[in-house]
Order: sequence, then C-alpha cells, then structure tokens
Amino acid sequence: MLLLSVLLVASGLRVGGQVQAANEGIDQLTHLLRRQDREDRAQRRLRLALGDATRVAEQGKPVADRRWAELAAELRAFAVLSASSNGGDAAALSPELHEALAQTRAAALGFVPTARDLIEVARRDPTAIKAEMPGFLGALKRLEAERTEAREALGRAIEEAVDANIAFSRRNTVRLLAGALAAVAVLFAMAVWLRLRVLKPIVAIASRLRDFDDERPDAAGVPGLERADELGDLARGLSEYREAVEARRAAQRRVDFLAHHDALTGLPNRLLFENRLAHELARSRRTGDQVAVFAIDMDGFKGINDRFGHAGGDEALRRAAALLADCIRADDLVARIGGDEFAVIQVAPSQPAAAEALLSRLSRATAKTADEEVAIRMSVGVAISGPDQDGDELYNSADMALYRAKGDGRNTARFFDTGLQEEIRLKRRLARDLEDAIEAGGLYVVYQPIATAGAMRVVGHEALLRWRHPELGEIAPAQFIPIAESTGQIGRIGLWMADQAIAAAATWDPSVALSLNLSPIQFREPDLGGALLSLAERHGVAADRLEFEVTESATLLGHHRDAVLATLRRLQAAGARIAMDDFGTGHSSLSNLKDFGFDKLKVDRSFVAAMLTHQPSASIVKATIGLGRSLGVRIVAEGVETERQLERLREWGCDQVQGYLIGRPATRDEVDRRASVGVP
Ligand code: C2E
Ligand code: CA
Ligand code: CA
Repeated sequence: MLLLSVLLVASGLRVGGQVQAANEGIDQLTHLLRRQDREDRAQRRLRLALGDATRVAEQGKPVADRRWAELAAELRAFAVLSASSNGGDAAALSPELHEALAQTRAAALGFVPTARDLIEVARRDPTAIKAEMPGFLGALKRLEAERTEAREALGRAIEEAVDANIAFSRRNTVRLLAGALAAVAVLFAMAVWLRLRVLKPIVAIASRLRDFDDERPDAAGVPGLERADELGDLARGLSEYREAVEARRAAQRRVDFLAHHDALTGLPNRLLFENRLAHELARSRRTGDQVAVFAIDMDGFKGINDRFGHAGGDEALRRAAALLADCIRADDLVARIGGDEFAVIQVAPSQPAAAEALLSRLSRATAKTADEEVAIRMSVGVAISGPDQDGDELYNSADMALYRAKGDGRNTARFFDTGLQEEIRLKRRLARDLEDAIEAGGLYVVYQPIATAGAMRVVGHEALLRWRHPELGEIAPAQFIPIAESTGQIGRIGLWMADQAIAAAATWDPSVALSLNLSPIQFREPDLGGALLSLAERHGVAADRLEFEVTESATLLGHHRDAVLATLRRLQAAGARIAMDDFGTGHSSLSNLKDFGFDKLKVDRSFVAAMLTHQPSASIVKATIGLGRSLGVRIVAEGVETERQLERLREWGCDQVQGYLIGRPATRDEVDRRASVGVP
C-alpha cells in the first residue's frame, strides 16, 4: 500500500514535471514568435522609412543628412537585432523550425547590406536609386517570405505543442485517476482481508473463550489452531491454557461430586441434602411454594443384610435408590442420609397433594417388587414446611413421622402433624423421666399367673413391669418399654426388674416358676446370661424355676443372632426354659423354632381374642397347638378371658393358659395374699 502511494505520488510528480517541461517549450516558442514579430515590426518600419526617404530623394527633394543618419542607425539596430536572433535552444526545436529560423536570419543578414547600399546610393546620388532598387526589393521580399514562413512554422509548432500538452495532460489525468481508483480498491480489499483473516478469527476466539468462561462443557474448541501465523499461535496458546483449566475444573468437579454424593448409590448425600433444603426453604418464602421433606427408612434391611450378606445389602440399597429416583420428579431431590435411610425434598405450589401423589407412586413402585427375592419395603415420614421453619426442624418432623410410621406397622407412610409433635414431646419427656424412675420408686413389678389348662393349677407367674409416673399416673408398658428400648435404658431397667422378680419368686412355693420378658435390646449386654443366673443364685432361686420369654424379633437380631443364641443356650444349660412370646405375630419361621430350641410357645393374645369369631385365628391357634405337640414343645395361650375360650383350648389340647380369666397381673403382696388363701 505504501509502495502504491509512493508510486502514485511519484507518477503525479513526474507528470507535473513533464507538463511543466512542455509548458516551458511552449513559452520558448511563444518567445521566439514574439521576437519574430519584433524583428518584423522593425523590418517594416525600416522599409517604410527607407521607402519614404528614397521616394523623396527620387523626386529630387532634399533629404536631410540627419535623416539618412537616423536610417543608417535604425538599420544597424536591425542588423544587431537580427544577428542576435540565434533561434534559441536548437535542441528544443524541430529541425524544420530550426531551418526556417536559420533561413530567416540569413535572409535578414542578406537584406542589411542591400539596405545599406541603398541608403548610401540615395544619399549620394538619388538618380541611381532606381538601379539599386530591384536588388533591395529582392532581398526584402526574400526576407519577408522567410519571415512569414518562420512565423507560420512557429505558429504551427506552438499549436502542436499545446495540443500535445493537452493530450498528454488528459492521458495522465486518466492514468492518475485510474491509479487512485486502484489504490482505493486495494485499500478496500485490504480492509476486507483484514476483517476476514484477522478480525473475524479474533472475534471467534474471544467468543469461544466466553463460552469457556461460562463453564459450558459442550463448548467447541478454540478456532484457528491450524493457522501458521501469530493468530494460530494465539489460538494454540489459549487452547493449551483452556485444556489445563478444564482439567483442573474436572478434578474440582469430581472432588465436589464425591463430597456431595454417596459412593454406593450415586445419590446426593446428607451434606447436599441439607444445603438444598436450606436453599429451597429460603426460596419458598419468596415464591409461596411449600417444601415437603420425606424421611424414608427401608424395612427389614437388617434381615436382608443377614440373609444375603453385605453384597446383597448393598444391592438392595442400590435398588431402593433407583426406585426412589424413578418416583421423584426432575425438580425433586432424593438423598441417601446414611445406612438404610433416604430423604426426599419436594417443592410444590400445593401441598400435601403433591406429597400424597409421590407417596402413591412410591407405594405402587414398592408393591411391584413384592414378588422378587428381595422385596423393597419402606416406611416414610412426611413433613410439610410451615412459616419460618428451618431445615433441621423440618427434617426432624419428618423423622418423627417416620418413627410413627414404623410404629404403626411397616411399609406405611405418615404425615407429621401437631398431634404427633405432642406425642413426640411426651416420648421425650418419658425418656427423660424414666432415667430416675427406679430411684424415684415409680417402677414396680406385677405378676400374672400361668396355669395348666386342665386342672387350672398355677405353675408360674409372668413378671410384668409397671410405671406410676408422679404427674402422669400409670404409663402402659407398651408405651414406655419401646422408649426404654430406644434409649437403651432397658438394659439397666431389665436387670433391676429381674432382681425384683427373682427376689419375689424366692418367697414363693418352689414349684412355681417365674417368667421374665427379655427385650431384644438386652441381648446387647455381652454377659446377660451370666448376670441373670448370678441374680438367681444370689436370691437362692434354682435356675430351673426360671422361664425367659423372647419375641421372634430377638431371634432375628442380625449379627447379634449368635450372641442371642449363646445367651439362650447358657440359660438353658443352667436349667432355665425359653419361651417364644407373641407367637404368630412375627415371622414365625420353623427354622427359628428349631435353631433356638424353644421350650415353650406363647400363642399371641390377639389370636385367642379372635378365635371364637374369626376362623383363620382359630386355625392358627389349633395349628400352633398341633405344632407344639409334634415338636414336644409346651403351648401357652395368652389373654384367655372367657370360659368358652378356655373350653375350646382344652379341647384342642393346649397345655397352659394365662389371662384375666385365670388372674390379672398383681403386686407381690397381692400374689402372696392369693397364695395364702389358695386363689390363683
Ligand atoms: P406380653 O409379654 O405379651 O405380656 C402380656 C400382656 O398381656 C401384659 O400386658 C398383660 O397385662 C396382658 N394380659 C394378660 N392377660 C390378658 C387378658 O386376658 N386380656 C388382655 N387384653 N390382656 C392380657 P402389659 O403388662 O401391658 O405388657 C405389655 C407388653 O409389655 C408385654 O407383652 C411385654 O411385651 C412388655 N413387657 C411388660 N413387662 C415387661 C418387662 O418386664 N420386660 C420386657 N422386656 N417387656 C415387658
Ligand atoms: Ca411375655
Ligand atoms: Ca405375649
């Protein structure tokens, strides 16, 4: 471009120079023409003056000497003028013109002597003028002819030069114009090139970098990597930088993911759940939506773990996670809180409708697994956000509802309500008050007789725990025992209770047995058997007077199973008997019966209560009695309240009976009084 401009300027200058040179040539020609004009005028004046003087002289009139002298002087001046007419710069003139000018000068110089001669003759002898005149006129005519020719040649030359100059100027103007146009075109082309090759790629690179900044994982690569120029270098440098940053980000994302997700199921973990819950609660305050939190617990997970090992347990957890993830909508969140606990956050404009819909999807999904080897069953507690509730509170409410759902029989769902909150508050209070109930004298033991079905002879007493709360009055064991179990207080209370009961039994007829209920939780105590036996020994009660009642849940106690078995074996080895309590309500597997070597089965009172009106219950009672027969195990029917029930049980061959018909649970003093008067 620079070169082009230089060329353009140079050519402009050159054209200017040429035009000027041409103009100078024209000036020179004009000058020559003017000079010819001057010489011509001088020549004409000379001719006229000479003609006048010679005519006067020929007429014989006197001509003053002075006049002749003036003529001579004028002729001399003409001679000088003509001699100095050298034709200018010969190189600038055409040969023809040069020749014409030279001829004119020659004619002028030829004319001067003839004129001088004429003057001399006319001065001296006017009569000789006539003779002299033809020579003079010849020279003059030749001079005039030459001069005319020279002037015409000069005129032509000037005309040609002017024409040539005009043509030249026009040509060069067109050329300059074309040059300028070319320059503009080149400029434009360069602008376009600059835009396509440099600006556009830079804009493209910048826009990719913006994508990259927005952390768009699908962003295309940096364009222009293949270019060999500086832009290519730039693109490659940025691309490398970008890859490095991308790798770091990927690693960071992985770390973030691991920090917020559960490795087994891939679900969000508790941390992410808590963050999201806080976020959704804050947002719902603006939008007016309601947040539902679902606390979910797998039912029977321990049993699955026991039966199928850890791998089977993990598989069940993964299936439960997938099932939950299938039931929720894209906006909801399902998290694994730990163990077999899950939680869901559901935000919806109208609750509990959305929560109920989710629960029914969940219950359909779990029902579908019923026929599989490991059925997925879940208990669910739901809480719906109220104003200004924080995440912890809401989750705790859902957890309370879950607790209730579990208590209500598994594979169900419960919504949290204020009644439940009241119940939970009471449970917390009872748990607290139970701490010092023994010391405060609130706990005491009652004894319910167990008699033979035939002769109705009392063969034993079952010890049952009672709690008289200082403010709330009598609290049912069905209410406080689960609390004592959940807080672990049952261990201490159970031993205190055994101590009381064995002490009482020590005062009874040695043929009367004592039945003690053992909570599954008590088996966590490693030397439960030893502790119980040493109590019996301390109170002087023979171990074979003791019966221990355990529910089937104790026998299913997962990894404690061996410990439970060992404890029961130890007690049996010492002579004690083991009874399976509440038979028929649990899983009641025959293999359990066999493995644990039960000495007794206690038919649950719910079957006894229903057996006269409800055929299936009657069948269960009958079948259980038959089973006892064939296994050589004693059968005790609980909750016998009527003579008709007793009669029917006798018919079916039941060994022993227990219930209000035989005797209500009574205090130790009451039992002693009854024994002394011979009533059961
Ligand atoms: P369980 O072991 O099945 O005890 C029998 C329950 O049936 C007792 O209720 C008793 O009062 C009740 N009962 C007895 N005869 C009849 C009857 O004819 N009709 C009706 N409707 N009920 C009758 P209680 O004392 O309320 O005990 C409830 C449960 O609490 C017990 O069921 C037992 O599982 C648990 N429990 C009670 N005392 C203890 C204890 O010292 N240790 C442990 N671990 N659990 C205990
Ligand atoms: Ca019992
Ligand atoms: Ca029972």
